[in-house]
Amino acid sequence: MPTNGWYRDKAIKAITETLEEPTLDLFVAELSLDGMATFHDTFRVAEGSFERAMATYDALAELQRKDPRLRIHSISTATDVNVEEIHKLTKYLYERCPQMDHHNLALIRGDRKNPALKLPDMRQYAELYEYMRRLWQPREEGRYGGVVDPMLQWAKLETVARRTQVIPCRAGILTAVVAANGDVSVCELHQPLGNLRKQSFWEIWSSEAATQLRASIAAKACHCTTEVFLWPSIVFQPKPLAATLLRARVWRKVHPLEPGEDPMLSPIPTHPQLEALAAGETIPLRAIRDDRTGPS
Ligand code: SF4
Repeated sequence: MPTNGWYRDKAIKAITETLEEPTLDLFVAELSLDGMATFHDTFRVAEGSFERAMATYDALAELQRKDPRLRIHSISTATDVNVEEIHKLTKYLYERCPQMDHHNLALIRGDRKNPALKLPDMRQYAELYEYMRRLWQPREEGRYGGVVDPMLQWAKLETVARRTQVIPCRAGILTAVVAANGDVSVCELHQPLGNLRKQSFWEIWSSEAATQLRASIAAKACHCTTEVFLWPSIVFQPKPLAATLLRARVWRKVHPLEPGEDPMLSPIPTHPQLEALAAGETIPLRAIRDDRTGPS
């Protein structure tokens, strides 16, 4: 269950009621955080949201002591403006929240609220993921679904680099999205195919529009890095699963950080000529070769 942690009491009440179900094996509450307190509050335009999220963590930790089926995670979505912030945040969370066992790193995707936000520098993103993997390794042992995490990260990096589906997407076959207002779609990024207030689910799901959309997805007309759709597309398709296991080298041993080891992220590559131009310098242009003028 993702939560911004703003409504602590409401969240705790809902989770406590859910945990009354005896057949439930595991329940994950995931606190969504964008950076350290000042950045997070400014980014969310809600003063005090970081502090409230930490208060919710404390209440979740209390609940977990009574019911270990509850697991506590956090998630941060990397953009072009917060990779360094997440780097600081993950260290903070590891120390501040000893009962948190995972910090998930997501990539900004198509449904962004602020269209000005862009993908982060992918080298920095990959370094941040590797850092987080080493930092959290002592708490990751045996975590349910932990083995899929490096495969997801590999698939996201490859998708961005190759700008296509590297894992054939099964949204619309293995997964469906039903919004609170009744809209039904194959994923969060495609327009709704219908609404449950007007048609039944099966009418929408077997419509001509749904069939056409599935065909265009199979033809790789779209691609994205959305974890909730990548996850089943990897895990429930034997060939992509085997290929991704190999390419992500999931058997690779992760070395936890040594005491005092604090690797920094590489700076984002700069473009000295563009910076010089921005600073008002004149940059000499390359001489135009005489032979550019062809026969008249
Ligand atoms: S690739 Fe992404 S956008 Fe396309 S159908 Fe799958 S989840 Fe949706």
